[in-house]
Amino acid sequence: MSKYALVTGGSRGIGKVICQKIAADLGYHVIINYSSNKAAAEETLKSIEEEGGEASLMQFNVTDAKAVEAALDKWHEENPGAVIEVLVNNAGITHDGLFMLMTDSQWSNVLDVSLNGFYNVSRQLMHKMLRNRYGRVVNVVSVSGQKGTPGQVNYSAAKAGVIGATKALAQEVAKRNITVNAVAPGFINTDMTKDLDQKEMLKFVPMNRFGEAEEVADLVSFLVSKKASYITGEVVNINGGIYS
Ligand code: NAP
Repeated sequence: MSKYALVTGGSRGIGKVICQKIAADLGYHVIINYSSNKAAAEETLKSIEEEGGEASLMQFNVTDAKAVEAALDKWHEENPGAVIEVLVNNAGITHDGLFMLMTDSQWSNVLDVSLNGFYNVSRQLMHKMLRNRYGRVVNVVSVSGQKGTPGQVNYSAAKAGVIGATKALAQEVAKRNITVNAVAPGFINTDMTKDLDQKEMLKFVPMNRFGEAEEVADLVSFLVSKKASYITGEVVNINGGIYS
């Protein structure tokens, strides 16, 4: 039977390359989650199949607990006995602005996707992972959740929340051979950062360049592999040397 890995926000950016790497490096059948961009998710799927890997699509909005539950229940009904043993909580959004001027929706939307999204998806899968006595969870957080970034109080709070949850959950499930880690990227070239003033941001990056999604995906692929069996509750920075 195939081994399954679910990546939230697998249609674009970092999540897309994580899907590709996990399929190619580890042979998982990758379930590519997306929220609205079906065409991009299909591109990810096609690229994996062209390389001889296995993948499928699963649409849900991570903020919608009922939709997450319905999609995963349906999947489990259609795949009796199958276990999703790798989960990458990658879906995330930014909605930057000074705290003084922040709106309620700016605050809650950003927390909803990263923090509640982590909760909604992980909680649905944890029972089965525990029964499976093996699992890997990687949460994609951010340098902002480590050191705080002005103009991103909402995003920094959301990612710091996920870092706390990562450390706590890791301790709860460690005895069952389930590791829970976080990766904290700095500036990575994706749609999320395309409108930033690169020249200005590079002042903060000792390596003097933005990172690539491939670089983050290689780290995630290692952390969800059997090779990383004694690493849990960690936050691994991948940010070109930003002190954090
Ligand atoms: P991106 O290019 O904007 O892609 C975001 C992905 O998340 C898309 O696949 C999108 O799906 C999905 N998504 C957004 N909201 C969702 C929701 N409610 N439910 C399900 N999926 C949702 O972003 P990225 O740069 O690859 O970022 C990926 C992760 O890395 C995020 O958690 C982000 O916070 C983190 N990160 C990024 C950077 C960076 O510099 N890029 C730095 C640090 C951390 P659709 O295609 O369907 O919209």
